[in-house]
Amino acid sequence: MHEFSFAYDIFKVAESTALKYNATKITEVLLEIGELTLIVPELLKRSFEMATKGSIAEGAKLNIKMLPGKIKCRECDKVSEVSITKEAQLTGLQLFQCSHCGSNNTEIVEGKKANVKNIKIQE
Ligand SMILES: [Zn+2]
Repeated sequence: MHEFSFAYDIFKVAESTALKYNATKITEVLLEIGELTLIVPELLKRSFEMATKGSIAEGAKLNIKMLPGKIKCRECDKVSEVSITKEAQLTGLQLFQCSHCGSNNTEIVEGKKANVKNIKIQE
C-alpha cells in the first residue's frame, strides 16, 4: 500500500527531527501533499497511526494540507492548475489538458511531492 510506506517515511522524518530536539513526544505533524501524488488522506491517517504505534509519535495528530497540481503546456508554455479526476485515480492515468489551448502535450511541474512542513513536540 502506497500510503503505508509513505506514512512510515513521514514518521522517520518526524522522529529524527524530534530526537534532535530531545523531544519525548511528537504531538502533531503538519504535512503538505501534492494532489497528484494520489495519496488518500484518510488512508494516510490510518497508516500513520499504525506506523507510529509504540513510538514517540504515537497519538500524534496528522495535519494534512493538500496542494493543487500544476502542469505546464509544451505548446503554449502556460501553466494550468489541475486536479485528479475519479477516473484518473482509478486507472492511475495522468494525462492533463492545458486549460489555455487544450493541448495534451503537458508536463507536471507541481503536485507530485509531499513534505513534512512542521512538527510539534514535547520536551
Ligand atoms: Zn497550452
